[in-house]
This record gives sequence, structure tokens and C-alpha cells, in this order.
Amino acid sequence: MTFAEIGLHEALLKALTDSGYTEPTPVQAQTIPAALEGRDLLVSSQTGSGKTAAFMLPALHRFASQERPAFAPAPRRTSNQERQSARALGHTRGNDRPRFQPAQPKMLVLAPTRELALQVTAAADKYAGQLRRLKAVAILGGMPYPKQMELLSRNPEILVATPGRLIDHMESGKIDFSQLQILVLDEADRMLDMGFIDDIEKIISATPASRQTMLFSATLEGTVGQMARKVTRDALTIQVDAAHTKHENIEQRMHFVDDLSHKNRLLDHLLRDVSIDQALVFTATKRDADTISDRLNIAGFNAAALHGDMHQGARNRTLSAMRRGQVQILVATDVAARGIDVPTITHVFNYDLPKFAEDYVHRIGRTGRAGRNGLAISLVNHAEHFNVKKIERFTKQMIPVEVVAGHEPTRRVPTGNGRPGGKPNGRPAWKSGDNRGHGKTAPAGRSEARTGKPGAAKHDGFVRAPHREGAKAPRTGPTGGNRRTYGDR
Ligand code: AMP
Repeated sequence: MTFAEIGLHEALLKALTDSGYTEPTPVQAQTIPAALEGRDLLVSSQTGSGKTAAFMLPALHRFASQERPAFAPAPRRTSNQERQSARALGHTRGNDRPRFQPAQPKMLVLAPTRELALQVTAAADKYAGQLRRLKAVAILGGMPYPKQMELLSRNPEILVATPGRLIDHMESGKIDFSQLQILVLDEADRMLDMGFIDDIEKIISATPASRQTMLFSATLEGTVGQMARKVTRDALTIQVDAAHTKHENIEQRMHFVDDLSHKNRLLDHLLRDVSIDQALVFTATKRDADTISDRLNIAGFNAAALHGDMHQGARNRTLSAMRRGQVQILVATDVAARGIDVPTITHVFNYDLPKFAEDYVHRIGRTGRAGRNGLAISLVNHAEHFNVKKIERFTKQMIPVEVVAGHEPTRRVPTGNGRPGGKPNGRPAWKSGDNRGHGKTAPAGRSEARTGKPGAAKHDGFVRAPHREGAKAPRTGPTGGNRRTYGDR
């Protein structure tokens, strides 16, 4: 099936050709025709499957064939009653003239994170490139209110929003959903995980019952399934890929580590692989994302951090730098990295394993985008082995264990179940001799820091000084420049 056979608007076909899309992805082939019929949809599909176009194209097709009503009617005298109700809503500034006409979007896309929302907005702009008059704007937490008011004052047809900030604007009368035709809940499972259920229900109750609702989620089971059924009518369920679908183009590996210092040395070693174009390193905490990014920069890498404590402007700048190739290694937390779509990310590293197995699937899906291959490497402490088991059960895939010569773990790596096991060299990491004496105490409670070996407990492997220049020959990486190691001292 081609996009033309689906019957999409000429202007969209042109935009798709310009984007280099030759045929619909499986989720698009199933979703677009049903969406064009106006059906409510519950779609379970994996990240990177082309789900954004699956809901955006039919919406744009519908709007392209509709006349746009004039937004700003000619000024007319306001009645006393209107003036009173405007005052009650706080819309006036003393002179009784409406200060702000609420935006009346035709489509609302709710997304869990700012990054995903920005990506959806960018996709809408790309696909609507040939359709004049259609505007999409993102309404996000962290963005200055005046800027958002300015965006809303343009009365965009498409609003892409994170729930919290949208509610703020709804409550201050800046948005009127009476003209809403299409509601999309993107990554609904994630929005529920993040505690947005009340906000979502509040938003949905402000939209017309006549709307078309499309819900996209990694899973349609449990709470998401219940909500999905509540907010849709006679919905068609499309199950393209379950969340645990094999990422066949993504090779997965894991390395066992003894402690933080070992983990840092190994990360340093692995990041020097010349086949890395760009890499994403996941950490469990925002603090670690900052620390590791700083240490990687000191070690000569071109790294940046991305996490939820950063202002939106800084997050956007970092992502743009990543897209332009100015940043090679992005060290990020789950929330910030969700939705990142940078096709040149060749490697994903789990510096820390994710809390939930679903997140593992989302994380590794940041590589192998747009038909490319990717490599996902997890650095695992022996105590976390049960977490690996959980992930393997979820993905129904075994993650092979690898051992790097010179970076072997001291403990024998778990084998069995067909798992290829690595052979430890029997030489404790703390005895490698060059990682003692620069002590920075590892964060309390991190089990990998408590090895009980002399020296090891006091190291996170990051602190360079006093640095032995030449301890490891600097190499010139793919982005150029000599790099020094960290953690291998
Ligand atoms: P998504 O799942 O919406 O995040 O899309 C994942 C990636 O696939 C994005 O980079 C899209 O630009 C790309 N993409 C979406 N649809 C197609 C298509 N039909 N052919 C090729 N690439 C696509």
C-alpha cells in the first residue's frame, strides 16, 4: 500500500516525498485509513514505528479539506452582559475591551514530555509544510507564559501540549475547546506513569463529546486500557507491535561491573569505539547525568547532559546541538530522553538500568531509528542481575554478556539459560594499581561502591587529579580531538 493509495491530500503526499518516505510503516498502513474514516482508535505500537505520522497525517488531511473560519471577527460593540462575564473571567484590563480571545484549536495532542511534544510539533510542521494556513504550536511547562500567550493568540489549529501547563491556560480562559475535532493521547501509558491521570480527565471533560479520539500507548492493558475505554467510543484496537517487540535492528549487550570505578573505566573504554557516531548514556539521577557529562568532557569527549531540572531553553539548545552533531554524547535521564529522535544515535548505554522494563525498550529505541542499526549496551552490577532478568522476561530476549579484555569483572558472570558467559581474569579491579589515592567517596547507598576492597570503596573513578598523563594513550575519536581517559587512573 502506498500513501497515494490511502488517498491522502496531494499536499501531504508532496511533503512525504520531500521527507523521503516511500511507503507507510505498518502502524501507518493500519491507522491512517481508519482515522480518515473518523474512527476512535486505540493503538499499541512501539516507539520509532512512525506513530506520529499515523495520527498527524489523517488530521492534516481532514483540516486541509475544511474551510478555516475567520478567527478574529470584526470589532463590534460589547454588551454589558459580555463585559461582566469577561471581567469575571479576568479577561479585561480596566477598559472593558477583551484582552485575549481564547484559542480554538481543532486538534489537541497530549504528550508526556516536553521533548516528545516538541517533536510532534516539528512533525506537524514538516507534514503541513505544503498546507498554508495550518499552524501547530507546543504548550509546555518551562516555557515563559508571555511567549505561550503569543503563540495562542495566533489561534493555531493544532495544539501539542504537556498536561500541566495546558490546564493552567485552560483555567485562565486562554483556550476554548468547543471547536476541537481530534484528540490524541500520545504515549498514554507514560502519561499515566507520570501521574497525569487527573489532568488528562479534566482536559478531556472540557472537549466536545463529538471529537475523534486516538490513543497511542506501548501497552493497552491495565490502567491505560481502562482509561482508553472510558475516553473513546466504539474504538478500533490496532495492535501493531507490542512494547516487547524485538528491536531486530538493535543489537543488545551487557557488561558486568564490580563497582562504580570499574563502570566508569568501562564506559570510557566503550565510548572510544570509533564506530560511535553519537551516543546516549542513560543515568538514574539528574545529578549523575550532570556529573558524568562533566567528567566525560574533562576526559576529552564532547558531552552534554539532559534532564528535567534544566530550563526548557537549555534542553532545547542541547537537543539542537545533538541534532546538528555538535554534541557527541548525551547523558540523560529517562524523562528527558523520552521521544528523542536523532537518527545518528548509533549507541545507547545504560549506565544505570531503568527501573521498569518498559523503559528499557524505550531507551534502546533511541538508536536504530529510521531504518538504521543500533547497539544498546547495559553496564550491570552483579546485584542488579534480577533487574536484567525482568527486562529479559519483558522483551522475551536474552541479552548476551560481553567481557572486554583488560576490563573483566572480578566475579564470574552469571551464565545459564543459554546465556553466553564471560570469563573473569581473576584480578581485582582495585589491584590494577592506578586507581587509588584520588578518593572521592561514592554516593552513600550505591552498592557498587561498597566492595569491601581497600581503596575501591573510596572511588567513583571520575576524579582525575593527580593525573598521570600518558597512563593511557589518547586516541583521536570520530569527532576529532585528543581524548584523555577518566576513571582509568
Ligand atoms: P515516530 O515513531 O513517529 O517517532 O517516528 C520514528 C521515525 O520514523 C521518525 O524519524 C520519522 O521521521 C520516521 N518515519 C515516520 N514515518 C516514516 C515512513 N513512512 N518512512 C520512513 N520514515 C518514517
